[in-house]
Amino acid sequence: MSTHHVCGIHETESGLNRCHHEDKEPAEHPAYLTYGSPAHSAMKQVILGAKLRQKIPFIARYRHTGLVESFHSLSLVYTPKHVFFWPPMFASRKRMAVIDFNANHGLREELTEGDGRKKLEMVYSRAKGSMKMRRVVAAKTHPYVAGLLADMLERRRAGPVLGPRPLSDDDPRQISRYIHKVVRPTTQEQQEMRLEWEGHQRRRSENQ
Ligand SMILES: [Zn+2]
Repeated sequence: MSTHHVCGIHETESGLNRCHHEDKEPAEHPAYLTYGSPAHSAMKQVILGAKLRQKIPFIARYRHTGLVESFHSLSLVYTPKHVFFWPPMFASRKRMAVIDFNANHGLREELTEGDGRKKLEMVYSRAKGSMKMRRVVAAKTHPYVAGLLADMLERRRAGPVLGPRPLSDDDPRQISRYIHKVVRPTTQEQQEMRLEWEGHQRRRSENQ
């Protein structure tokens, strides 16, 4: 129907197929195309073309990324990007983020006013560029912490937990200690590199 709508045809003669805008003719619209004109044919080719049709399943399902963004935001509280964590610590912190998220997501109680109505607050919507109402939920809870602490104590009681331990099978350091595979220069090589660097600095200051 959209290929007809752009020409000002909002209903088929049989009346079986029609546009779903409220009035028979939209109040405001850009200039209509002439049916069958080169511009209209070009537009039809795009709208009815295979390229667009193949993309429709992805558009039509209207996938939101809000949930995963919300998780990533929480995950970064546990593993800030600018802080280094060695692999076991990194994995533990990511697991903590998952536990925290699962313990709270969609489970926080909606607060109510004294008269029983839902408690709402005004927030700025960046998408709309205006203020909107949002329900207020109770503070987060951490019901899993007591269980984790109990397990930690049990583990400590079972034997020493500090000191060197063998790397787990999925520890990336099983592959390489560093991301790069370069061998550290020997003391002799480092000394030569230092002399080269100093020479370079000297020439630079002389040229200024
Ligand atoms: Zn129309």
